[in-house]
Amino acid sequence: AIPLVVAISTTLAARNGLLVRDRRGLEEARNLDIVVFDKTGTLTLGEHRVVETVAAESIRPDEALRLAAAVERDSEHPIAQALLRSAEACGLDVPKAERFESMPGRGVRAQIGARALLVGGPALLEREGIDAAPMLREAAERFGAAGSAAIWLAEKGVALAVFAVADAIRPESRDAVARLQEAGVEVAMLTGDSQPVADHVARELGIGKVFAQVLPEEKAERIKALQAEGRRVAMVGDGVNDAPALATADVGVAIGAGTDVAVEAGDVVLVRSDPRDVARIIALSRASYGKML
Ligand code: ADP
Ligand code: MG
Repeated sequence: AIPLVVAISTTLAARNGLLVRDRRGLEEARNLDIVVFDKTGTLTLGEHRVVETVAAESIRPDEALRLAAAVERDSEHPIAQALLRSAEACGLDVPKAERFESMPGRGVRAQIGARALLVGGPALLEREGIDAAPMLREAAERFGAAGSAAIWLAEKGVALAVFAVADAIRPESRDAVARLQEAGVEVAMLTGDSQPVADHVARELGIGKVFAQVLPEEKAERIKALQAEGRRVAMVGDGVNDAPALATADVGVAIGAGTDVAVEAGDVVLVRSDPRDVARIIALSRASYGKML
């Protein structure tokens, strides 16, 4: 039989917008001392927009956007969607791509007609040894400082253009962080995005610990490293990339609007997709089970 205290707490949880998938997660939540948030789609809305394009002298900016959108056509990444929407909004005819290949946490590659093209972030640029003109590098730096991701288009080892892709912070995120800190819980951010963009968001939200440029397969390792330091860790995420980290954490919290894979890996699901509800999980757990045994 389900003990009375548990039956009461799951009912209370449901009333607070929380779906408890594994009761042990709710029970463990009272002992947490650090909550690690994924950035994109969790602390931010994940609704990316292209806000600026800087192209090399060899190509027109709208041609660069058209090619980048074509390469991203078969990608489900929010950055890909932003490039496609932006190309469409400019009335550009986006051609079909061939030999599309996705490189998780880095970017994508595809063939457009006779051209073999790459689109991706700084990690891709580095791994492929892409050469970028100073003008493009300066633009990328400026984008990062303003909190936008720098996304590159490259061909034959040379950068053709860099796009500023912006993603708005969820209005509830600041409060979500403050409530956890008031409850005596440290807040950290874990993201595949670049250091400057991650730092920008962290500064806006008052987050002190930032793990940036973490590849999808390394996210769970980061959680394990914290646990090895004796920390009791919650992970909050929305993406396919976050699923192993959600499963590894002492308490996995999935954003309701996130991918099915993330939701299935979580102990608790935030039905309202409101990051402030993480503090409710802890308060409810402390009230139901008592703090620290
Ligand atoms: P996050 O952890 O923030 O959800 P991801 O692991 O999905 O991010 O991606 C990390 C980085 O890899 C992105 O910030 C971007 O630079 C690059 N990237 C990944 N997929 C794509 C793509 N389809 N197009 C362009 N860049 C991409
Ligand atoms: Mg995400």
